[in-house]
Amino acid sequence: MNWVLIGASTIARDYMIGAIRAQGAGRVSWVVSGSQERAAEYARQNDIPGATSDLDEALRDPSIDAVYISSTNEKHQSQAIAAIAAGKHVLCEKPLSTTIEGATAMVRAAKAAGVVFATNHHLRCAGSHRAIRSLIRDNAIGRVLSMRVFHAVHLPEGLRGWRLDNPDAGGGVIPDITVHNADLVRFILGEDPQDVAAQMGVSGMGKGVEDSAMSVWTMPSGAMVMSHESFTHPFAGSGIEIHGTEGSIFAKGVMGQDPEGEIEMVTAAGRKPVPFDNHNLYDESVRRFCEAVAGDGTPAATGLDGIKSLQVAMAVRTSARTGQRQTLKYEE
Ligand code: NDP
Repeated sequence: MNWVLIGASTIARDYMIGAIRAQGAGRVSWVVSGSQERAAEYARQNDIPGATSDLDEALRDPSIDAVYISSTNEKHQSQAIAAIAAGKHVLCEKPLSTTIEGATAMVRAAKAAGVVFATNHHLRCAGSHRAIRSLIRDNAIGRVLSMRVFHAVHLPEGLRGWRLDNPDAGGGVIPDITVHNADLVRFILGEDPQDVAAQMGVSGMGKGVEDSAMSVWTMPSGAMVMSHESFTHPFAGSGIEIHGTEGSIFAKGVMGQDPEGEIEMVTAAGRKPVPFDNHNLYDESVRRFCEAVAGDGTPAATGLDGIKSLQVAMAVRTSARTGQRQTLKYEE
C-alpha cells in the first residue's frame, strides 16, 4: 500500500513510518507539512520521495491508497475530509478531532465515500492488553467490580510544545491521554462508560490547559473505573488493575508505546504471571488497517471507537470544568 503522511510529526518519525514499511509492500511516498522547508527536511531525513505543503498535491497522486494523519489535533478533521473526498483510506491519530461533531463528520464522510477509516489507538493493539481482555472474557476473575488505570507520565522534553500551551491545537492531558485510557477501558471491559465525574488541574507544566486529571466512570455492568493521567509525574510508572469477584489482575508498565511490562493474576489458587505476545503495537495497528482495506476484517480501532473514546474524554473535561457528573449518550 502506498501512503501519504499528513503531519511531519514525532510519532510518524519514531513509530509509524517503520510500521508502514514493515507491511511487505508498504511505501511512504509523500509527507505533507504546514511548511515546505520542514516537509523537505523531514522527507530527506526519513527517505520519503515527495514533500509538500500543499495537501491537494499529494492527494492528486493516483498511486496513493491511504493517508496517515498525525498533525496537531485541530487539523485532523479538515485533512481527513480532504483525503476522503480524494478517495483515500484514512488512518487518523487520536483524538480524531477537537470536537465530537468534527469526529462524527469525519467518520460519516468516510462511510459515505466507502473508504476505510481507523483511529490509531495503539494500546488495544498490545499483546498485554489483549491477554487481559481474554482473561476478562473467559471470566477468569469473575464479575468485574472495578478497574484502576494509572497513566501519569513525565512528558518528554521534545513533546513539551502545543500539548502544554495551545488549547486551540487540542492541547491538554485529557485529549492526549484520557482518550487513550477511555479506548483501553472500552476495549478490555467490552462496554462503554455511562457516567463520568472528574477533576483536573495544573501541576507544573500546563499553561492554559490541564496537565493532570482524575475521574471515576460507571459502566453499564455496574463496574467502577478510576482513571488518572498526568504529564508531570517522573517516577509514577503506569499500569492497570482490574478487580473481580474471583480474582484480580495487576499489570505494570503496560501503558507505553512499546511491548513491555508485566502482568500477574491473583485468585484463590494463588498468584501467577500472565504471559503475553510482545509484537510491535504500531505494526499491528497498520497491519489491521491494511487488512481492512483489502476487505478482510475491521481496523483494530474503528472510527466509531475514535468517536466514543473522544466522547468519554470530553465528558471528563466537561465534568471537571462544571463540577457536574456527565451522562454519556453514544451514536451507534
Ligand atoms: P509533534 O509535535 O511531533 O507533531 C505535530 C505537528 O507539529 C507536526 O505535524 C508538525 O507540523 C509540527 N512540528 C513537529 N515538530 C516540529 C518542529 N521541530 N518544528 C516545527 N513544527 C514541528 O506531535 P506528535 O507526533 O507527538 O503528535 C502528533 C499527533 O499524533 C497528535 O494528534 C497526537 O495526539 C498523536 N499521537 C498519538 C500517539 C499514539 O500512540 N497513538 C502518540 C503520540 C502522538 P507540520 O506537519 O505542519 O510540519
